[in-house]
Amino acid sequence: MKLVFASNNKHKLDEVCKILPIGVDVLSLQDVGFLQEIEETGSTLEENSAIKARVVWQWLLDNALLDGIDGVFADDTGLEIKSLNGAPGVRTARWASEDAIDINNRQKALLELQGIEDRFARFRTVVSLILGGKLEQVEGIVNGRIALAEMGDGGFGYDPVFIPEGYDVTFACLSAEEKNTISHRGKAMAELRKILEKL
Ligand code: IMP
Repeated sequence: MKLVFASNNKHKLDEVCKILPIGVDVLSLQDVGFLQEIEETGSTLEENSAIKARVVWQWLLDNALLDGIDGVFADDTGLEIKSLNGAPGVRTARWASEDAIDINNRQKALLELQGIEDRFARFRTVVSLILGGKLEQVEGIVNGRIALAEMGDGGFGYDPVFIPEGYDVTFACLSAEEKNTISHRGKAMAELRKILEKL
């Protein structure tokens, strides 16, 4: 089976290829020649991941490139902080500003939670799969808390400020393998795997 993953993020592609069943070939957007920017205009992770999968599916259809390709999947992730009513949510990548880089977003998280005792947060990933034109969605969640200061230098994004439940250290202190087994994306991809294994 051949699926297009609506992403060009090498880190995510490697992660996904390790999790999906043998026999599933994963192609990136670059592999199929899709070079456009997809506008994430939805107001939920569900909407945004579906938009990404649908746009790519339609593009493959319009360009008669579906020969040999069975489907498309896309993911969208948000950090949801309880005491901030679920923020940043869909704004996770651009929380500090439209052109924010990871460090700006992490600093904002630490600043927003200054003096706040309840630091509960979770990462949530929604994966949208379009197979034969039909949409299915699965999610993966990891609960945890926002650290009091940055810790560790691995990973990316908010990893240095996110302490998963049951740990005393942040995601940035864990190996990629250990993070994958407990992470939001790892869990969502494991759900996707279950769907593909049933086919
Ligand atoms: P995306 O939907 O996967 O592009 O994720 C949106 C944003 O969430 C990214 O820009 C990161 O800031 C953050 N993010 C997603 N996954 C992770 C993770 O595993 N660790 C830390 N931050 C993440």
